[in-house]
Formats: sequence, C-alpha cells, structure tokens
Amino acid sequence: MDITVAIYNGDVEAVTSISTIGDDVASADEVDPYYSAQAVFTMPNHESVIIDPDVNGLGTYYVVVNGLSIGVEGGVDQQILNEDIPYRLTITTSDPEPVVAPPSQLVWLSFGDDITGTNTRADYLYEETDLGWSPDVVNRPPFYAADFGLPETMRDELIEAIAERIEEIYRNTGLTEDEIEFVIERPDPHAVYSTVVIGGRTPMSGLVGIAQSIDRANSTRDDMATTFSEEIGLFYRGDGWMPYGPLAEDPQVRSEQVATLVANTAAHELGHILGLEHATEVLTDEPNNLMGYNDSLEPQDLEERNSYWYQLGLGFTNEIDLLLRAIGSGTDMGE
Ligand SMILES: [Zn+2]
Repeated sequence: MDITVAIYNGDVEAVTSISTIGDDVASADEVDPYYSAQAVFTMPNHESVIIDPDVNGLGTYYVVVNGLSIGVEGGVDQQILNEDIPYRLTITTSDPEPVVAPPSQLVWLSFGDDITGTNTRADYLYEETDLGWSPDVVNRPPFYAADFGLPETMRDELIEAIAERIEEIYRNTGLTEDEIEFVIERPDPHAVYSTVVIGGRTPMSGLVGIAQSIDRANSTRDDMATTFSEEIGLFYRGDGWMPYGPLAEDPQVRSEQVATLVANTAAHELGHILGLEHATEVLTDEPNNLMGYNDSLEPQDLEERNSYWYQLGLGFTNEIDLLLRAIGSGTDMGE
C-alpha cells in the first residue's frame, strides 16, 4: 500500500481531489495561482516539510492522509478507508502569530479620460493572461456613458454612482476607511495602490472583466483588475446579444442599472486581487453573492459562502472573514 500525506492550502475552496500517489513533491512555487485548494507538498516517503509563511504564504493548511492499494481485487485500484490506514503523523507548530496590521489598501478606480480617449495601461492583459491577444490590448479606452446608450453628459454622475456602490459593497463587510480606501483620481506616484481599470472590451465576446490574479492573502498591493464596460453594455442593451433583457428606457432608471452592473463586475474583479476566489454557489438568487455567478442587474454583496453537497467542507469558507484577514484586522492566524 502506498500512503501519501499531502498538505493543502485550503483557504477558500473545497478540496476537489485528495488522491495523490507517486514520488512527486510539488513545490509551492508551482502551485497554480488560480486554485488555492491543491497539494502544496506531498510526502510519500516519510518525509517532513516546514511550512514557512514567508515562502508558502499565510493561510490555512490542511493535512490529508491518503492510502491506495494497487492491483488488489482483480487489478482494480481499491481506495482504503481512512480508518484502516495505520500511520503516525507528527505536527509541530510555532506559537500563533497575529496578523501584522498591514497598511491600508488603496484602490484606484480608473475610468480614464473621455476627451483624450485614454485610460491607464493594463500591461498584464498582454503579458500575463496568455489569451492570445495583440499587444495593444494593454492600451485601455475610457469608460463611456455611450456604452450603455446614455448621453456623455451623464458620465460624471455615473462614475460617482459606480464608485459609491463599489465602496458600499466593501464597507458592508465591515472594512473601515483605515483598511481600504477608494479614489477615482490617480494617486500620488509614490503611493502603493491597486488599480481597477474600467472601460472598453476585449476580443473575447462575453468577457466582462478579468483580474491579474487571485492574489492569495492580498500579498501584492499594487496589482490590477479590469472591467470591460463596453462589453457589459453589449450584454444589456436592447440591441445586445444576451437574453438578459434591455435596460430601462428612462435615463435615470437606466443609469442606476448601469451603476449596479458595472459596480458588481468591478467589485468582483477587485475581490480577486484582494484574495477572493469564486463562490461555489452558482446561479442562485439568495444569497446574490458578488463572487458567484448571478444576474448582475441586482445589487450584489460579499457573502459568507455556501458549498455544494459534494464539497467536503474543508477549507476556509467565509469570504468576508477571509477578506478581513487579507486586508483588515480579521482573525489571528493559528487560532
Ligand atoms: Zn471572477
């Protein structure tokens, strides 16, 4: 029998596979940044490892012991039930360390300049996404009210309403102004800030936003996300191709709908670069989870997460608490 001990970082997602055999020892460096629930170490041969938060990241780690017998029962692999595996596992921990209070996370909501037709560059769209786009995808256009069939005279009030709603979503989690701050003007060049670029679209139909990464534990405080407002407009305009229904004819009602739509998407992409993955509930109205996949015409909020029945409940599943850990006071690590 081959017994493997694996250590998973299970911050947010349920562990999807706990069967790991073989001699491969995966290094934390190779961990796919898009999935936190994967083995960061496997220890097939009585090995030991040290988890160093500075190297492996702050988080919640899970130890999974798995046994597999090969070639019994007529050649069919047989999973050994946990209670049948004889093993001894020694875990030594250091004292719990409180989260070092990080500086406030500053977020620039960049709507660009509709006069010059420019917005801040998003270099990662070409350099890091590997989606086959041409290099000029990094030059982002601004947000236009016309993306939603509204007069450009309404642009300023739209921007204000979008920014207000994004901030409200994050304030609703309990984050204070000392912990996260939003601005719509470019911050001082010496400031450290993350940027959410809002405007335009990409060659990929239906793509309404993309984050630079799922930045586990918000370890990078100057990363980027983009929201493709022109694409959102194509979704929702009466002449669009998605069957979600047209926006309201009345400009005032429509502008409120637009603020909700754009804020939902921008706050979702921002959630990724602050460390949040997708909620596991899909296409449900209640809760209308910002990190899920829901109809964006309704105002969304960050929610405590719910899981599907087949997910094991492993992992740290409260995204509000996760967010507070990543950029706020949160709960002390190790407790
Ligand atoms: Zn997402």
